[in-house]
Amino acid sequence: MSTMEPLILVHGGAGRLRYDGKRRAARQAALDQIAQTGYEMLKHGNSALDTVVEVVRLLEDNPLFNAGYGAALGLTGEVEMDAAVMTDEGRFGAVAAIKNVKNPVLVARKVMEETDHILLVGEGAIKFARIMGFGEFDPVTDERRKMFSEQRVDYFRRNWEKFRHLYGGDTVGAVAIDCHGKVAVAASTGGIMFHLPGRVGDTPLIGCGIYASSLGACAATGHGECIAINMVAKTVVDMLSETNPQTAADKVISKLKLKNCNCGVIVVSRDGDYGVAYNTPYMGWTVMPKLRDSVLKD
Ligand code: ASP
Repeated sequence: MSTMEPLILVHGGAGRLRYDGKRRAARQAALDQIAQTGYEMLKHGNSALDTVVEVVRLLEDNPLFNAGYGAALGLTGEVEMDAAVMTDEGRFGAVAAIKNVKNPVLVARKVMEETDHILLVGEGAIKFARIMGFGEFDPVTDERRKMFSEQRVDYFRRNWEKFRHLYGGDTVGAVAIDCHGKVAVAASTGGIMFHLPGRVGDTPLIGCGIYASSLGACAATGHGECIAINMVAKTVVDMLSETNPQTAADKVISKLKLKNCNCGVIVVSRDGDYGVAYNTPYMGWTVMPKLRDSVLKD
């Protein structure tokens, strides 16, 4: 029996606007279409958990985003991906630095449902994925390979402080509230371009890139190390006990510790309200149903 108007909020990463208008429009169209799919799922009574995982899986399959197929290459030219999922009952599963799988978010869900653990990394995560039936998949697209060779590694390394903020973005995440008032969150990323092998970003760290509780759910995107240090997702969700999602999102983004802390968040509260905030020039996001005007800054 439906008691609640469902809602889904999806992001496609916070970062710089380094794409032309055409590509940016294509990414926004993909976000809108996938959010619509998620909304239909919720309308048909699917759980928030099933919906956010499916939405993130669809985004992973879309090479326009830095997750799954089309994920960013690390310093060695390999793709290492992070993904996580969490429900409002405190169930959590994640994978970090996983390679050669198509959908890290599905493996993260398996960690949550099939193990007593919350996070598997590297080789262990890959082995677990194979046992769970996930086949070998090369997530490197020609475009990412081209970006990698064009933006010469030496040059990048010499200019790390200056340029690192350019290489976030395009990560994906979704938060949803279903007809039964349950909330869930999922996220997936290839991490920051040129990251060191073995690097783990914020996404698979509970309370950092994602968090959910009986108050609501939040997904963060941007500079992972900074997001983790600020425990962004948990901080936003905890604030929902005393304020609305937009205020919570705005406050956390405005009080980030560390310089150059590029960050964006999407958040849904248990009562069906939502918030979106980011301090980058751009963050692709969409909400269904469209409750109020876009808060896009550009
Ligand atoms: N937060 C991700 C990471 O640092 C990247 C992103 O959101 O674009 O791994």
